[in-house]
Formats: sequence, structure tokens, C-alpha cells
Amino acid sequence: RAKALKRNTWQRYTAALGEESRERFDLEVGLRRALERGELQLYFQPQAFVDGGRVFGAEALIRWVSPEGETIMPERFIPLAEESGLSHALGRWVLGEACRRARQWELRGLDLQVAVNLSGAQVVHGDVVGDVHRVLQESGLSPERLELEITEGFLISHTDEGIGVLHELRGLGVMLAVDDFGTGYSSLAYLKRLPVQRLKIDQSFVRDVPGDVDDEIILAAILSMAGRLGLEVVAEGVELPVQLDFLAGLGCERYQGFLLSRPVPADVFDRRWGGGAELCAPVPSR
Ligand code: C2E
Ligand code: MG
Ligand code: MG
Ligand code: MG
Repeated sequence: RAKALKRNTWQRYTAALGEESRERFDLEVGLRRALERGELQLYFQPQAFVDGGRVFGAEALIRWVSPEGETIMPERFIPLAEESGLSHALGRWVLGEACRRARQWELRGLDLQVAVNLSGAQVVHGDVVGDVHRVLQESGLSPERLELEITEGFLISHTDEGIGVLHELRGLGVMLAVDDFGTGYSSLAYLKRLPVQRLKIDQSFVRDVPGDVDDEIILAAILSMAGRLGLEVVAEGVELPVQLDFLAGLGCERYQGFLLSRPVPADVFDRRWGGGAELCAPVPSR
């Protein structure tokens, strides 16, 4: 009986595994096709000053709209792209789209940055420095208007391989930010070794303030030390006015979150914040 039970469990296990790898395979084939057929879309989420509320930038966030009209979120396909070697093509596409869009804002005389997420594979295995250099040349965007985000988790586990690349990217004149800061338990002293200008505090620390005393203390510590190290801070995941008030009280200068806006398609961002409204408005006739 025990044996039969074991065999049954095993069969169920392998069946499940087969299903899972099939799903992954389908997703991978689909993603390759998505790149070729233009099924990928870039959404933009505004970032603003806490004080006064001026929008100073936008984070570019990828979406995959399948032929069936289903919107697939990045957390489902970015890891897959990394494993299947698609992250370079995908990353280049995102960089190109984001920089072309930001160049339009620049030409309209707006003071707006664009923030692009880099995957670990792009930094370690690809020619991300060449890619960024090329896309800046082709788009004509001023380098200081491009910010590249790299997660803290990646930086901690790949410091030696990554640090040279970060210095080269910084040499191109772009800004560098540490994404999901606080989740990787890195010390702020360690950050001094990296050529980064900005920290993005992970949304998990923002969610339960005010109220969660531990998170309140962590936020206060990050903001005070970042300030002394000359690093800018963006608080992520701000959904409520009380969260924003709390952050303002700690001297946090920049934020991003649903309170201001969810990520929106490029044309919606342009109408609201990107100077595109005038372009859409009918030309007055005399
Ligand atoms: P991230 O870079 O930390 O991006 C922030 C995520 O938080 C976004 O999820 C955004 O929609 C979400 N968010 C923003 N404000 C709020 C809020 O107030 N509340 C809550 N609950 N969530 C908020 P999204 O777009 O699903 O992206 C998830 C992750 O996927 C990103 O995390 C980033 O790591 C990755 N990702 C997205 N686009 C790209 C890309 O083009 N390239 C790479 N390599 N990774 C990307
Ligand atoms: Mg990010
Ligand atoms: Mg983040
Ligand atoms: Mg994240």
C-alpha cells in the first residue's frame, strides 16, 4: 500500500511538472512572437515631488497584451525572459521606446526624466553600456534625463561583476537608482562604493505607515542616512494621503504610487503630463 501510494504521488508530481514546463514553453514561444509582432506595450507611472506635487519623471513599466486581449504583467514574464535569453532584446526594446518618448517631452520643453528597469541578465551578460550609448545617440535624449533602475537584490549578489558596468553607465551621463531598496539588507555604507544617485524605497516599507512602528523607524533611518550620504530618495507604493503626510514629515522629497496615478499607457501619460494635450487639441481657426 505504501508503495502504491508513493507511485501515485510520483505520477501526480511528474504530471504537474509536465504541465508546468509546457506552460513555460508556451509562454516563451509567445513572448518571442510578442516581440516580433509588437504585442508589448510600455506604460508610464508618474513620479512627483512631495512638496508642491510637480511631476518630475516617469517610470517605464512593460506590459504584454496577448492577441486574446489579455494583459500579462511583467512579474509573469520578466523572469522567463531572463532564463530564455530574451531579456536583451526585450531590454533594448524598452530602452528605445522609453528614450524616444522622453525625447519628445524634452523637445516640448518639459523637465521630465524617464526611469527604465534593467534586468540582472542585461547588466551581467549583455552589452548594456553599448545598448544605452546607442539608444541615446539614436533618440537624441540628454543622458541626464535617463535613469536606470537596478534592484538592490541584484547589486548585493553581483557586486563584483556589476560595479564596473555601473561605472561605465555613469560615465555615459545617465542617472542610476537602486530599486526595491531595503529588501536586500544592504548597508548604506556599502552604497557608497556604488556610483548611484538615487534610492527607491520598496513599497513594503510604505504600506503600513503610519502605524507600524518598525517600518516607521526603518523609513526614518533610510531617509536620514541617505540625506547625509547625498542620495536622493523616491518612496514607492504611496497609495494614501496619510502615507504621503508621514513621508513628508520625515523629509522625503520624491514619491510614486497609486495616490498620484497607476501606470498608464504612453498616450494617456502624454495627455496628462507629457505636454501632448496641446498637440491633440484642435488648432484654433480664424
Ligand atoms: P518595480 O520596478 O519595483 O516597479 C514598481 C511596481 O509597483 C510596478 O508594478 C507598479 O505598477 C507597482 N506600483 C506602483 N505604485 C504602486 C502602489 O501605489 N501600490 C502598489 N501596490 N503597487 C504599485 P509592475 O508594473 O507590475 O512591475 C513589477 C516589476 O516588474 C517591476 O517592479 C520591475 O521589477 C519589473 N519590470 C517592469 N517593467 C520592466 C522592464 O521593462 N524591464 C525589467 N527588467 N523589469 C521590469
Ligand atoms: Mg523599478
Ligand atoms: Mg521597486
Ligand atoms: Mg518591485
